[in-house]
Amino acid sequence: MDQLAPAVAPPIRQLEADVAIIGAGPAGTATALRLGQLGVRKVLLVDRHDFPRDKTCGSGISPKGIAVLRELGVWPEVERHALWIRGLRLVTPGDREVYLSAGRELDAVICPRRVLDHLLLQRAQSLGVTFIPDCTAVRLVEDQGRVVGFEARDGTRVKARYTVVAGGAHCTLTTKEAARPKRMIQAIMGWWENVPHRGDHVEMIFDKMLTPLYGWLFPESPTRVNIGITYEDPAREQRARQLFQRFLDKHFAERLAGARQLGKWQGHPIVYDYNVGQLSSPGRIVVGEAGRLTHPATAEGIAQGMRSGLLAASALQQVLTGHHERLAFAGYEWRCKQAFAASFAGAAAFRRLVRTPALDWLVAAGERPALKQLAARVLAWI
Ligand SMILES: Cc1cc2nc3c(=O)[nH]c(=O)nc-3n(C[C@H](O)[C@H](O)[C@H](O)COP(=O)(O)OP(=O)(O)OC[C@H]3O[C@@H](n4cnc5c(N)ncnc54)[C@H](O)[C@@H]3O)c2cc1C
Repeated sequence: MDQLAPAVAPPIRQLEADVAIIGAGPAGTATALRLGQLGVRKVLLVDRHDFPRDKTCGSGISPKGIAVLRELGVWPEVERHALWIRGLRLVTPGDREVYLSAGRELDAVICPRRVLDHLLLQRAQSLGVTFIPDCTAVRLVEDQGRVVGFEARDGTRVKARYTVVAGGAHCTLTTKEAARPKRMIQAIMGWWENVPHRGDHVEMIFDKMLTPLYGWLFPESPTRVNIGITYEDPAREQRARQLFQRFLDKHFAERLAGARQLGKWQGHPIVYDYNVGQLSSPGRIVVGEAGRLTHPATAEGIAQGMRSGLLAASALQQVLTGHHERLAFAGYEWRCKQAFAASFAGAAAFRRLVRTPALDWLVAAGERPALKQLAARVLAWI
């Protein structure tokens, strides 16, 4: 029988950084990438996964998201892997259908998250950012009311002048104010091959069973689509899989008959708020979905995550070059309000609209191009 080796605790990894970022989704990688572009050295980015990794997401990038990718200088690479979307098939709560297109400036793309997040990460690394995979932050370290780094599940200790919390929907390392009860949209989705669809159109289906939210079909490649539903269920009364099956049976039964499902259905919540709340405290900045920066009507969060990362990086560069932290962080929160408050308010209005027959009236008003363009612009704007 083998002799048991004496128990020796593994050495604790101690790391130091000017900025440590927890989470390498669009918000964390955009922060890291921008810090690299601004010349900030000693940036450490950790994620509980290794990359490339999948993320449960429709992977739709709106015009606002494309604008941030252009600002970050990664758009040409992303575009190479993305599928252009030129129009929308809209199904109303009264089951009316219309095809809409709003003009080139409102075009969007689909880029699978496995690809998008990895491209952003690689670009950040090329600018000197250090990435540590398989590292799960479990606790922030505080000193006299100030966040000074974090500890990871494997014992890694990171000491940082500034810590960016970018851990997404489930993250618990946010500010105390942000720790108030979360508003959640529930979502479940799957992937299929060979579903008949218009390759350059997304489908948004505002079925009554999901009101005020919707189901979708997003094409990811000429042969692969993702289909999913969002819905709200604060009392947790719905069974996600049953609801999704009902939705698929009603809207996709025919088209899925000859299709092949890829992998299993995946469920994941989306955390949102109508207000931009507190996103910083001494030593800490919160970005992306960890700060509830997602769109309350469409559940879009890629653009918001990247935009907040870009704004956070500017604030961090300011404090690292001698600006007053409190002012720089207040500036970050104010800029986030400027960036998101109007569209979040628009989302509240849109949710109310979906509960009325307005979408049906609009579609019933006929095939007039001006009306169709107006409807498309309203949807693109929210
Ligand atoms: C079903 C579904 C469909 C969606 N469709 C779309 C869409 O089409 N378009 C769109 O714009 N948005 C969509 N969203 C929303 C979008 O996915 C998120 O809002 C967006 O990913 C938020 O980005 P983020 O960087 O803040 O967080 P995330 O993308 O969630 O990234 C967080 C990262 O942090 C890591 N992490 C978490 N905790 C820790 C920890 N403790 N230590 C270390 N690492 C950690 C995670 O592994 C992850 O990589 C969808 C969401 C869902 C659930």
